[in-house]
Amino acid sequence: MTHSSSSAFAEVNQKVAQAGEILSLKAGLISAISSCEREVVISIPLRRNDDVEVLTGYRVQHSSARGPRKGGIRFHQDVDLDEVRALASLMTWKTALIDVPFGGAKGGVAVDASKLTSIEKEEIIRRWTRSLVHVLGHHRDIPAPDMGTDSRTMAWLMDEFHRLEGFQPACVTGKPVELFGAPGREEATGRGVARIAAATLERNNVKVHGATVAIQGFGNVGRYAALVCQELGMKVIAISDVSGGIVDLKGIDIQAIFTHKTLEDVQSDERIGAAEVLEVKCDVLIPAALGGVINEGNMNRINAGFIIEGANQPITATADIELRAQGVLIVPDILANSGGVMGSYFEWTQNIQEFSWPIDKFRRELDVRMEKAFINTHEVSKKYSIDLRTAAFVVSVGRVAEAFEMRGSLV
Ligand code: NAD
Repeated sequence: MTHSSSSAFAEVNQKVAQAGEILSLKAGLISAISSCEREVVISIPLRRNDDVEVLTGYRVQHSSARGPRKGGIRFHQDVDLDEVRALASLMTWKTALIDVPFGGAKGGVAVDASKLTSIEKEEIIRRWTRSLVHVLGHHRDIPAPDMGTDSRTMAWLMDEFHRLEGFQPACVTGKPVELFGAPGREEATGRGVARIAAATLERNNVKVHGATVAIQGFGNVGRYAALVCQELGMKVIAISDVSGGIVDLKGIDIQAIFTHKTLEDVQSDERIGAAEVLEVKCDVLIPAALGGVINEGNMNRINAGFIIEGANQPITATADIELRAQGVLIVPDILANSGGVMGSYFEWTQNIQEFSWPIDKFRRELDVRMEKAFINTHEVSKKYSIDLRTAAFVVSVGRVAEAFEMRGSLV
């Protein structure tokens, strides 16, 4: 993700300030809810090649105004304090927008996850957990997977936490289904993206059945979004991953290709480049791979009526303005890809109750709550005559400010 001109955290706070002004909040209150409550930076000595390499780890707790802080842990070489702050604050606004009882946090370790052995990864997450255990816990701060970490990493985190603090499976989400995870969690983000796509079409009087969809990304988000779009009657006509993309105007049978690890080995009459998929003529475009992929370089070649942001920040600020001027309707990431944290909420609540839900209940709850968040954001955008991204911030900033004021505290 590129934020060359200004910091990522400053970019988020600009949206918060804009929402605060629309809501006529006082400047001091906006500043209070924009600030991070706590930032912890740790060093992680890692045994490697007969020596020790010292890595830097982070946990930023942005807000607990509406509940325990919630957010993933990223293992990536580009992780730095500014990025972690930005992502922590986005979690505050996302959890408030979808109305789950969490605040926001994010963590990370600056390391190239692709170069780690499994044992090294386990050592790093156990050390990270030991160093931060005093600020974590199911009613304090609940991590989850993010780039470079997965359900296995969360199992190690839970195990380390249990050794130090005793049994508390709700201390982390995104765990394996076999180890206190929730059936439905894995598909939740993609499912939410697809349901939001359908709701967007309906609101704009476009028939869902037969609507054409192009998707960038065939990972966790992209493949489930594609599958559920197909289940809802849409026609996925193009999809790509890092190896390139395929096109079929009659509709790709997603079910048939679902188990392929990549699209490289999928048979298709027409192949396109990984980024070309963004320029395919379609009703709905779902960028679900990387940040910043729709930018000044390609914004005038986008050929979609609606863009549903599956990835985080896939559209640069300039492209966002230009596309909206062209009449493209954009559903922002903090709404469109919030199914993942919604699913984490369901996992957390099941762990606390020591009661597991069948997957049908998980899906039903997810669908109903995602749709409610969408309708609410849509209505706020109409009320203030603002775009959906600004409306999403107005909803979430309003809720966090209200909680902050009601607590009557300044901590
Ligand atoms: P993933 O690693 O499972 O999949 C990423 C996909 O993008 C892969 O198919 C990969 O081949 C493809 N890709 C990589 N580079 C590409 C390129 N240059 N062109 C085309 N495709 C490319 O990741 P994911 O979990 O699906 O996450 C995707 C995005 O969604 C990220 O921005 C992530 O931050 C965001 N997100 C994920 C979740 C979640 O629950 N997984 C939740 C919210 C947001």
